[in-house]
Formats: sequence, structure tokens, C-alpha cells
Amino acid sequence: MSKKPAKPVGYPEFLKELLEAKSPTGHEFAAQKVIDDHVEKSADKYSKDALGNRIAELKGDGGPTLMFAGHIDEIGLIISHVDDKGYLYFEFLGGHDQIIPSGRRLHILTRNGPVLGITGKRAVHLLSPEDRKRVPERHDMWIDIGVNNRADALAIVRIGDPAIYTDGPEILRGSIGVARAFDDKAGAYVCMEAFRRLSKEKKLAARVVSVATTQEEIGTRGAQVSAQGINPQVSIAVDVGHATDHPDADNRKFGRFTLSGGPIIARGPCWTSCHADQQRGGRVWPSGGSFRRLVASLLPTRHRACAL
Ligand SMILES: [Zn+2]
Repeated sequence: MSKKPAKPVGYPEFLKELLEAKSPTGHEFAAQKVIDDHVEKSADKYSKDALGNRIAELKGDGGPTLMFAGHIDEIGLIISHVDDKGYLYFEFLGGHDQIIPSGRRLHILTRNGPVLGITGKRAVHLLSPEDRKRVPERHDMWIDIGVNNRADALAIVRIGDPAIYTDGPEILRGSIGVARAFDDKAGAYVCMEAFRRLSKEKKLAARVVSVATTQEEIGTRGAQVSAQGINPQVSIAVDVGHATDHPDADNRKFGRFTLSGGPIIARGPCWTSCHADQQRGGRVWPSGGSFRRLVASLLPTRHRACAL
């Protein structure tokens, strides 16, 4: 029996803006602005901390504190060296599959705005049979911005400038989203959209605090800091998880999760114990001994880093 074709859907505007925001970890400015624009007006209290977290609060009716957390940073690269011919070398911002950077278009986020660059490496025709079999090391690749020397490159780009891949959000077959940064703009969107809807409720039994967190990709820093301040009794973090419905996922090892099967709710001692001290994708730390429940909701995605 053939599957009924999916009804065409588009991205909600808020999610689309988040996915388009260039926000490599530690440089989340564009995504922060999207959160400010869409969420601040729905909050009883709205704050920004030194790490750049965006913290939206509904005061509620004196009940426990419920915290939502989703991160708005994404993986990227950071310029670490410029050679005499003007080629740029980089390090990774966040956990990276080393096969991903080869042959990509990038935007380097300079003080004068995004600059297009292309990652290069020695062409396959020029590689030895042995080298063809191996994944290139980071230093085997470079970024070409179309200049001829170091001085010209440094007039445009500074060492320490971050870069991200240029891929924007698109739709496959009417209803499947493809985007560079579902990890974790999708989760941050879920948290903040839930918050906006709750803000329309007349009476809330809990104080609700929803946080768009920063620097998750380099150590869940924003979530840790904000949780200390908020001191929630219950915390729900939303990040991406692995859909295992592609040809190279062994369900015996990884479980069975499908792209359209709804969220993965993590269960187990680490997720709900009063001593829980970490969770994948949005670490939230107990604070002051009053922390009760930690729940993780993971949105299934395929092909992480060029997520579907
Ligand atoms: Zn994540």
C-alpha cells in the first residue's frame, strides 16, 4: 500500500528566523535578537544574563517553578591562522564530524558582516592511494576567500572570527524540514513557542521560566548558569535526538525512533533523579537541593550536522 503524500507545510516564521540566524556558539547575537523580537512581549519578566541567555518568565500563581531550556547556539568554525597566500585555517567550534567541513561554503562573521569563503583541500586526483582512504585532518583543509596574500586576508578577516556553513532551511517532499541548525533551534523554538502559548492562559499553577540558552556546544554553559539562578523544581530540556530510520542505524543498538514518530522522551535514573546532574543536549544542574525532576525531550533528526 502506498503512503499517503504528506500535506505540504512551511516553517512557522519564528522558527524560520531562528534557523536562518547565524549563531555559532559563543556568538549567538542574531538568534538572541530573534528570541527578543518574538518572546519578550509575552513575558511578565524578561532578562538577559552575561552569557547571553534569554530568560522569559510567567509569574504564575505561587506554585513550583517549571523551567524549559533549549539552546540557540550552533556548531561552526573559528579562524585560527592565516598563511602567506591568504588562506585561512580553522579550529572547530563545538563537536564536529571531521568529514563535514570539506568542500563547503561558509560565512565568516567579520566585524563588517558575513564574508563568503569556500573550504578547500588537495583534490582527490592529487592524493596518493593511501591518502584517498583517510578523512582529512583539520589542518589539511583551508578556507579560500579569494585573496592573494596574508595582508589582504587580514584586512577582511581577523583571527578569532567565527564561521558557519551557509545552508538555510528548506523543505523536502512537502513536509520534511532540512536545515543547518535544527540542533537546537528546533528545541529552542519548542520551548519558546510553548511559553508564548502558556502566556495566553488566564491562570497558571506554576511559575514558568523558559530559557534560550547559549554555549551548549562547548559545555552546556548557558543552561548551567541559568538553572542556578532560576532554581527550578522541574526542568524540561528540548534538544535533538537521533532518528534511527535511516539505512545505517542498528535498532538493536540505538532503539527505534522515526522522523515523524513524535518526540523521544528520555527516561531513566539520570533524567529524573533528584541528584541528576547532567543530560545530553541541555545540561541543567540542581541548585540549592530543591531540584526535583529533570525531563529531556528529544526531537528526532537524521543526518546530524546537515540535519533533516
Ligand atoms: Zn543540541
